[in-house]
Amino acid sequence: MIKPNVYTNEDKDIRICSECGKEVERADMLFTKDCRGIPFRLLCWNCYEVAMLGGYDGEYYDESDEQIEADY
Ligand SMILES: [Zn+2]
Repeated sequence: MIKPNVYTNEDKDIRICSECGKEVERADMLFTKDCRGIPFRLLCWNCYEVAMLGGYDGEYYDESDEQIEADY
């Protein structure tokens, strides 16, 4: 039997933590923030705490590193 990747039952919103790979209820997950406070990853509480130890998740960057061009 193949287990569904995201939903394991209809009552609960179950997600896979992208860090530890465990199935976690959405209500028990948190978005980490990157160094500019932008939501970065949705992780379970344990992984969130570890990821945010340094105050932010991901690599540090400043505005000069952003290569996003507005196309509107
Ligand atoms: Zn996790």
